[in-house]
Amino acid sequence: MSRFDRPPDASRVAAGWNTLATRMVRAGRHAGGDGPEDGFVNPPVERGSTVLFPSLQALRERGSKRYGHELTYGACGTPTQFHLEAVIAEIEGGTHSQIVSSGLAAVTTPLLAFLGAGGHCLMPDCVYGPTRRFCDTMLRRMGIETSFYEPMISAAGLQALMRPNTQVVFAESPGSHSFEVQDVPMLARVAHANGAKLLLDNTWGIHVFQPFVHGADVSIQALTKYAGGHADLVAGAVTVADEQDWHVLRDAAIQLGQYASPDDCWLILRGLRTLGIRLERQARSAFAVAQWFAGRDEVAHVLHPALPGSPGHEIWLRDFAGASSLFGVVFRPSFDTHAVDAMVDALGVFGIGESWGGYESLALPSTPTITRTLASSRFEGPACRFHIGLEDPDELIADLEGGLAVLRAASE
Ligand SMILES: *Cc1c(COP(=O)(O)O)cnc(C)c1O
Repeated sequence: MSRFDRPPDASRVAAGWNTLATRMVRAGRHAGGDGPEDGFVNPPVERGSTVLFPSLQALRERGSKRYGHELTYGACGTPTQFHLEAVIAEIEGGTHSQIVSSGLAAVTTPLLAFLGAGGHCLMPDCVYGPTRRFCDTMLRRMGIETSFYEPMISAAGLQALMRPNTQVVFAESPGSHSFEVQDVPMLARVAHANGAKLLLDNTWGIHVFQPFVHGADVSIQALTKYAGGHADLVAGAVTVADEQDWHVLRDAAIQLGQYASPDDCWLILRGLRTLGIRLERQARSAFAVAQWFAGRDEVAHVLHPALPGSPGHEIWLRDFAGASSLFGVVFRPSFDTHAVDAMVDALGVFGIGESWGGYESLALPSTPTITRTLASSRFEGPACRFHIGLEDPDELIADLEGGLAVLRAASE
């Protein structure tokens, strides 16, 4: 049973999508504080570095308000960026959003904002590889220590890892390659009881998980993925609910020179108008493909939060309004990684490439546990990550049928 085939949940998911669809059509169209846009439906692209003022006094007054959406200089944001920030804050249910140059910058900017020398950070062992590397190299060099925790840790287990200098607990739910759904409300409770912030990478859950309702302090999105939605740009967003956190975050972003091109911001705004309908269709297709994989002999586990048996499925049922379209498949250990490579090379409709969240389907061999430092024997066979796009799901499944035939032939 899942959210997609149980009637009460299915109708709730549909209601959620409709609400998102309506909100995404209306949001952020007059949010830059610059009045109506001459009747055109869309806000314009406004490029700029220098902002001119009528007098020195006006320049000085505006310049003293560095932390709001004050137009003082292009590197501090443009009206197009502020329109986008309003829409992202609305999707996330936060009060303020800061657009940054990439999803990775959306991870590193709040880490730098909320950690300091001598501090300690707790990271889930399933975390996105470049996030792990940032902790192990840059943060370590700055005198900030990171410990990795098992993503399905208990409250008592997490409490035992908390130190007096723990400033940040980070979560990524579900994990990039292993798809564990984390208990965010519990992580938030333990973090807050110890005076730490909970930062959440919410890229997979873009709209189906409401970070602030569940206690996160900071929500991170790689806008490169579903928000852009067309595989044509790189950007990130950091969203907060609390006014004090906003000042800390905004100050860090400005000091780090975090900026996104108005053209890219405009493309993301354009992508967001169709987010509801894209995500609904892609989520349904992905669930159909995941269920098909679950019935195949070649497959040991399907790592899709909406499927029973996937790690954290019960938490997904409790906390998520739906799913997105990225999931993993672990093949039986009798198949080796060369056979999975041959399968992926044989696919015709699926593309081979990094990233996800666009309108096109992708397949990528993965090793969910490769970067892990904690002992884990959950996945024995070789794995592959699938992103499902807007193609016809029956044609995707036909492509995968052919791929599995190649997998079997390559293992004989
Ligand atoms: C892709 C991704 C990022 C990084 O986004 P970029 O825009 O590619 O830098 C961060 N976190 C997660 C979970 C991602 O999937």
